[in-house]
Amino acid sequence: MNFTQSILIVEDHDFQRRLLARILTALGAQGVLEAANGREALALIERGSAPALVVCDLDMPEMDGMAFIRNLGERLPDVPVIIASALDPALLGSVAKMADAYGVRLLGVLEKPVTRMHLAQLLAAGDGPRQPRAAPPAPRFPLAEIEAGIANHEFVPFFQPKLDMQTGAVVGAEALARWKHPAKGIVAPYGFILTLEQAGKINTLTFLMLEQAAHATRRLRAAGLEITVSVNLSTTSLADVTLADRVAGVVTGAGADPKHLVLEITETAAMTSLAPALENLTRLRMKGFGLSIDDYGTGFASLAQLARVPFTELKIDQGFVTGCGEHPTAHVIVEASLALAHGLKLRAVAEGIETQSDWDALKGMGCDMAQGYFMARPMDEATLLDFCGARGARQAARTQTGTPSRP
Ligand code: C2E
Ligand code: MG
Ligand code: MG
Repeated sequence: MNFTQSILIVEDHDFQRRLLARILTALGAQGVLEAANGREALALIERGSAPALVVCDLDMPEMDGMAFIRNLGERLPDVPVIIASALDPALLGSVAKMADAYGVRLLGVLEKPVTRMHLAQLLAAGDGPRQPRAAPPAPRFPLAEIEAGIANHEFVPFFQPKLDMQTGAVVGAEALARWKHPAKGIVAPYGFILTLEQAGKINTLTFLMLEQAAHATRRLRAAGLEITVSVNLSTTSLADVTLADRVAGVVTGAGADPKHLVLEITETAAMTSLAPALENLTRLRMKGFGLSIDDYGTGFASLAQLARVPFTELKIDQGFVTGCGEHPTAHVIVEASLALAHGLKLRAVAEGIETQSDWDALKGMGCDMAQGYFMARPMDEATLLDFCGARGARQAARTQTGTPSRP
């Protein structure tokens, strides 16, 4: 931390403010600026003060910490902030997200009373390189280029394994669209799905993926792998009541059995154009397809809406799964989603398992299936076959030696 510039303390409580000033001086700060609330702090900044760091309370009269952070983000977005507050940790978490959304670099949150050790730890961490902001999203491609790629057979499914959490066996795979771009390499869905949806052209890709996934299902089963293959359906496709018959036609035409395929629909998707969506989903279910509610927790499905669609599976969104062992709020959401899934007799899938700790947390909560980078990334069909073969062999060895299964 650069201590040649002053540090600004924004705190309405005199004793706390003086305590912070003393600690910071003891830690080597050359100068300390003090403000009793956000408005005073802003006035200092407007008069030309450019502190190296701001230590800020949240609950203050006149201008509270949230408003001050917003203003700071507009004026001095590069000045790092430490929040010192006696508020509930759940509230502090949402303040941290808010600061990030306002472009403010939050070094950390300290519970009051602030100790010298905790402050020193945060300052030391702040000396590291500035955390890169989230990588800018990959570019979206123009519709004409995407359509030319489709016509040129450049779109293929990659398969990401789904594991049974009790046995560790591969029980399914999700087909995820990939564009083998002749110049750009493998392009992920962000680059083309939305463009196709907005142009009303998503079905071309959907049917291409379905057909290839159905052929893959047939081949995987012929190789002795009893797994289901999941395909993503767009919300927009469900508005057309002829969809279910066309989907079934493509799958049976490829020699696959609908009961070996699962169709994933995002939570919001199931809710728009409700009547035709229900007609399609019910018909698909009658034909034997599994129906999965994807990204559960990110949309606005009411429990009543969820119960009237004949889903067979619920996929908890990765936003709650990844790191849920360490985040109490995410943990509660995952637990509630699992209870809901099991109460409605749906199989629960956790997507976004990235670490052993995610796996342990989800398994401990009774989740049925898991998908995530910790076990495997999306891969081509040949690699999936090898992956399943290798796991099968390892599992057989474990069964013989009695070693418990691990992912
Ligand atoms: P989704 O259906 O929720 O698929 C899961 C996404 O999470 C995939 O991203 C997968 O690669 C990623 N993922 C899996 N495990 C992890 C993990 O541990 N950590 C992280 N950070 N990510 C993980 P992908 O392949 O980029 O697909 C993004 C979305 O694009 C999919 O989300 C789906 O909504 C859509 N999509 C993909 N293929 C198709 C398709 O053929 N048709 C339609 N309509 N949408 C598709
Ligand atoms: Mg999906
Ligand atoms: Mg998902």
